[in-house]
Amino acid sequence: MNAERSIDIVIVGAGFAGMYALYKMRRLGFDVQVYEAGGGVGGTWYWNRYPGARCDVNSLEYSYQFSDDLQQEWNWSEKYSSQPEILDYANHVADRFDLRDSIQFNTRIASLQFDESSKLWLGETEQGEYFFAHYCIMATGCLSKHNIPDFKGLENYSGELLHTGQWPHGEVNFSGKSVGIIGTGSSAIQSIPIIAQQARKLTVFQRTASFSIPAHNAAMDKAYEREIKANYAAFREQNAQRYAALNNKPNPASALEMSESDRETIYEQRWLEGGLPFLASFNDLGINATANATAADFVHRKIKQIVTDPKVAAMLCPETVMGCKRLCVDTNYYATFNQDNVELVDVNASAIESITKTGLKTTNTEYKFDSLILATGFDAMTGALLSIDIKGPSNQTLKDHWRDGPTNFLGLSINGFPNLFMITGPGSPSVLANMIVAIEQHVDFIADLLVSMRGANQMRVEASLEAELSWVKTVNRIADQTLYPRGCKSWYSGSNIPGKPRVFMPYLGYPSYVDKCNKIAAEGYRGFDFA
Ligand code: NAP
Repeated sequence: MNAERSIDIVIVGAGFAGMYALYKMRRLGFDVQVYEAGGGVGGTWYWNRYPGARCDVNSLEYSYQFSDDLQQEWNWSEKYSSQPEILDYANHVADRFDLRDSIQFNTRIASLQFDESSKLWLGETEQGEYFFAHYCIMATGCLSKHNIPDFKGLENYSGELLHTGQWPHGEVNFSGKSVGIIGTGSSAIQSIPIIAQQARKLTVFQRTASFSIPAHNAAMDKAYEREIKANYAAFREQNAQRYAALNNKPNPASALEMSESDRETIYEQRWLEGGLPFLASFNDLGINATANATAADFVHRKIKQIVTDPKVAAMLCPETVMGCKRLCVDTNYYATFNQDNVELVDVNASAIESITKTGLKTTNTEYKFDSLILATGFDAMTGALLSIDIKGPSNQTLKDHWRDGPTNFLGLSINGFPNLFMITGPGSPSVLANMIVAIEQHVDFIADLLVSMRGANQMRVEASLEAELSWVKTVNRIADQTLYPRGCKSWYSGSNIPGKPRVFMPYLGYPSYVDKCNKIAAEGYRGFDFA
């Protein structure tokens, strides 16, 4: 095999992780090449263009902090940014820091094989281009491999078939159309109210109801923006000390240690404030089922107040532990079911039998749709990594190594796969933290590690087997102290994908994770083997 190039660092993916890794590694003097499957930067925000796509983290927090000039000069127009604005920001960052020259777009990596003779990774793109890389940084995203369930007859459907995670770039107009949407996770919950305004008829197929808290999105409060920008570093530092690295104003009180009316007042305040901070209403919602049930009960009552048909309201009330599936944040989701043109179908009561040429057949009814939308989520956290054929020095594949779940050290490094790093991989806080904060922390950790290796003339690093096994236990031990691993079937634990190992993948608790990383670095990267 003749590799066309030999590169210090190959980065796979030009989303927020890949862009920052490129910026950082290039500044440290490494020769870097990024390969990106999409036609532009932005990762998840490049692909997820469905109507209503919006971040559920406050704009002033969901942004890079590595450059104070950047965070001072960029102005977000809303409290929660829309997908187009986040994509504009990603493009601005790419231009401002001259990143594009080092990114090859429309290029998907097919395989990475560690070549023992050269001690380099040999990579192949789907177009058949080869390269050698000393290090590989997998910035492939946690929610980037979209999931198309194995519906019988899907290939026969002749109408417009869409997936929220692979939305077309041009305008999709549902005016006057009959539309079906399968799924009621975050993507569906954001898009349903907007599609329902356009479509003649919208039919929503729900398997599991989701908890959703109103966003109360608004134009950016300029006084608040000025206040944050005046003390941005301190604001970031304070958020980094919080469980999910978010300014969610955690209430240190237990939900069970106060009167019902005091508890109600706090839930009411959080509901009015809106968004993810609802889950921080009390300190025990994630660990005590009785406490969690008080929050669930509050939201159930809200749903029943909003939705006028009691049968529909009952169907929309989730029976799972709140927060066990990612909490959704919406604008008018529940109220949309009061519209005459919107129908909710419970697929547990009438299962989807098949997709037909013209629509969809359940055990009860046949539906005809001009457009059918799959809001069916992702093969999360491991899907994108495992769709690349990754082989270590002994020819062991990552698929085999992860047969029973994604074992690794710190969510960063995998035993048997030297010089290969993950950004926000399984086993790191990633999706249960502010993603951009977690990304910067990971990239900085890897950068420090590579600089230290360069200084010590070390060429090879990987997680030791011992460190990997111990880390897996740590991640599980922490998760097992919460209600999340067993409170529902969720993509956090792989249970949305048939046959996927059931392992709770994120590390819970950003600050304790960072402490561990800092300690490990200070102790000469304990847990990593060098050569
Ligand atoms: P998701 O949360 O995994 O939801 C997928 C939906 O499809 C679920 O309702 C699921 O039902 C349903 N589904 C899957 N297979 C099905 C089948 N065979 N039959 C019937 N229903 C089926 O995916 P998502 O909505 O795309 O969101 C994924 C994640 O992306 C979110 O949790 C969030 O982290 C992120 N996201 C964030 C934002 C934001 O920042 N605001 C917006 C969108 C997405 P079950 O629940 O029964 O499996």
